[in-house]
Amino acid sequence: MALDYAVRLEDIRAAQDRIAQHTIRTPLIHSQELSQEQSQDIWLKLEHLQKTGSFKLRGATNAILGLTPAQKAKGVVGVSTGNHGRGLAYAARQNGVRCIICMSSLVPENKVKSIKQLGAEVRIVGASQDDAQSEVDALVRQGMTMLPPFDHPAIIAGQGTIGLELFDALSDIHTVLVPVSGGGLVSGVALALKSLNPNIDIIGVTMERGAAMHASLKAGHPVLVKELPTLADSLGGGIGLNNAHTFKMTSSLVKEIILVSEAEIAEAISYAYWSEKQIIEGSGSVCLAALRSGKINAQGPTVALLTGANLDMQLHHDIISGNPPDMTSS
Ligand SMILES: *Cc1c(COP(=O)(O)O)cnc(C)c1O
Repeated sequence: MALDYAVRLEDIRAAQDRIAQHTIRTPLIHSQELSQEQSQDIWLKLEHLQKTGSFKLRGATNAILGLTPAQKAKGVVGVSTGNHGRGLAYAARQNGVRCIICMSSLVPENKVKSIKQLGAEVRIVGASQDDAQSEVDALVRQGMTMLPPFDHPAIIAGQGTIGLELFDALSDIHTVLVPVSGGGLVSGVALALKSLNPNIDIIGVTMERGAAMHASLKAGHPVLVKELPTLADSLGGGIGLNNAHTFKMTSSLVKEIILVSEAEIAEAISYAYWSEKQIIEGSGSVCLAALRSGKINAQGPTVALLTGANLDMQLHHDIISGNPPDMTSS
C-alpha cells in the first residue's frame, strides 16, 4: 500500500514527542462484557478522559506547537464552539499563545462561558456561522493563524498519536473502530496503524442523521448534507467542499463506514455508564453502538475508541434513566 499523503508516520511520531507533556496517554481497558458478547477480545480506548474531555486536544496542541515563533506571537483563531474550540483554547493557554474563538450570537451562554474558562477570547459576531467566518478572515489578514478542526496535516498527525499508543499497547490488533465526522481522527489513526501493519482494519462509525463523510464517499467527492439534530452532535457538519486531505485519506485507508441510529447511540451511552462506568457523549459512543447493535461482528482483537465526554449532564441523566429525548421528530 502506498501511503503517500501530506501526513507521514514520521509526522505522527514527531507529534507524539511534541504533545507528550501536554496531553494524557489515555487508558486502554479490556471489556469483559463486550468480549463475551462478541466472542473476541474487545478493548476500549478511553480518550474521553483526555484533558478538555476529548481527543481534539492532541491535534490542537500539535498544531500550535508546530507554529513558527512569528506565528505564535500573532496567535490563533478558530470558529468551533465544541470540542475543537475547547482543545484550541486550552492548548493555546498552555503555550502562551493568544487564541480567539469567533462565534455567532446564537451560541448558548454555557458554551461561551466554558470556552472563556479554558482561556480563549470569545468574539461574538452576527447571527450565523458565515458572519463568524468573515471575522476569522479579517483576523487572518491581520496575521493570526486559523486552525481548522480536521482538514490540516498537523491536526491529523496529532490525532494519529492515538494510533501509535494503541499499537504500542496491543500489537496484535485486528480491527479499530473510530468515530467519524470530518475524518481528521480516522485519517490520523488509520495512517499510523496502516504504516505499522497494513493488515489492521480501520472501520469508521457515524450517526445515520447527517453523515457527511459517508455521503461523500458514496458520491466519490465531498458533498453537502443537511444537518439534523442528533445525540452525536460533535459529529455534525460537513467535510468541506474543498477538502484537501481527510476525504482522500479516509477513502483509501478506511475499510467501511457503519451508520448507527439515535436509539443505538442512546443505548450505548447507557451501556457505557451502567456496565463500563464511563460517562461519554453521544459522539463518543458510536463505536460501542456499532458493537452493541450487532452491526459489527468482531473478527479478532478489536478496539473501540471512546472519544468525548462533553455533554449536558441533565441529558446524560435522562438517557441513562431510559428517557432519551426524541431527536428524530424534526
Ligand atoms: C470531533 C469529534 C469526533 C470526530 O472527529 P473528526 O476528526 O472530525 O472525524 C469524534 N468524537 C468526538 C467526541 C469529537 O469531538
